[in-house]
Amino acid sequence: MIISTKRGTPQAEIQKIIAGFEAQGLSVTLIRGTDYNVFGIVGDTTKVNEKQVAANPWVESVTRVSAPYKKANRLFHEADTIVDVAGVRIGGKEKICVIGGPCSVECESQVVEIAQAVKAAGGAMLRGGAYKPRTSPYAFQGLGTEGILDLVRAREATGLPIVSELMSEDKIEEFEQYVDLVQIGARNMQNFPLLKAVGKMHKPVLLKRGLANTIEEWIMSAEYIMAGGNENVIFCERGIRTFEPYTRNTLDLSVIPIIKEKTHLPIIIDPSHATGNWRYVEAMSLAAVAAGADGLIIEVHNDPQNAWSDGAQSLRPDKFRQVIDKCRAIAHVVGRDL
Ligand code: PEP
Ligand code: MN
Repeated sequence: MIISTKRGTPQAEIQKIIAGFEAQGLSVTLIRGTDYNVFGIVGDTTKVNEKQVAANPWVESVTRVSAPYKKANRLFHEADTIVDVAGVRIGGKEKICVIGGPCSVECESQVVEIAQAVKAAGGAMLRGGAYKPRTSPYAFQGLGTEGILDLVRAREATGLPIVSELMSEDKIEEFEQYVDLVQIGARNMQNFPLLKAVGKMHKPVLLKRGLANTIEEWIMSAEYIMAGGNENVIFCERGIRTFEPYTRNTLDLSVIPIIKEKTHLPIIIDPSHATGNWRYVEAMSLAAVAAGADGLIIEVHNDPQNAWSDGAQSLRPDKFRQVIDKCRAIAHVVGRDL
């Protein structure tokens, strides 16, 4: 962190600033100029609040040199983290993992049938929402515990690990018992009490990017979970809000190389919620694999026209299989397998 003080700052104020940083275990190097003084603050500055530093009336400018996250930072953990989800590995240089399944679990036979199709197409995991974050309070809110138990039966029938969204702390025990990969949805990306609670869980976490969050805010949310002790975090880009109405969201594929550069954690792409339209899912899946994504999470439904949620963006099983086959070809081009 580099700080400069205003012209004419009294010596006593300079000493106070230095003492403040030293009290936090940081070392300070002072460069005295004729008009300005510049301080280099060295050490673990993740706990320093630069806005607070800038609030000092004698401080002219504050520049953060290092990132405010530590556990997620590639700088302190060079190797790619591979997250093990009940035996399915996500991350690393070799394999790409495809997760498929309905937006909402509707009943046992629906989710078992879709799970079998996902598996037959080459999917490695099953998704399904039992607690649904719906924009309207009058829309279907999910089957709750019954939906989780339907997913468990689909896992028993296929062997596929299950992914489902956790919306509140009171369901943590249920998820700890039944779910293999705990999804934190876009709308909860900055629900800090929930992130802290998930940080104490013993299950890996799929952290979706918020609707209007920067990459740094997203990484800081991963840091919340990791700071609690749960270091098995997978990022999931699902599109962000822009001015564009032709797609539900705007898929930001640039996050793939950026997340890989800044962090050591895996990243997967959700082309279904990103586009909101099944017609665009294939193209965005291929692009994501080409750009280095570690996996995809795609909505699949056996009867999209009658789906209880997100039918318009859901692939039928035969289309899902085609998308996986094409993605496999792209994966081979970029030196990976699927
Ligand atoms: C979902 O995956 O079902 C979902 C609601 O996604 P998001 O949080 O990305 O909107
Ligand atoms: Mn959905």
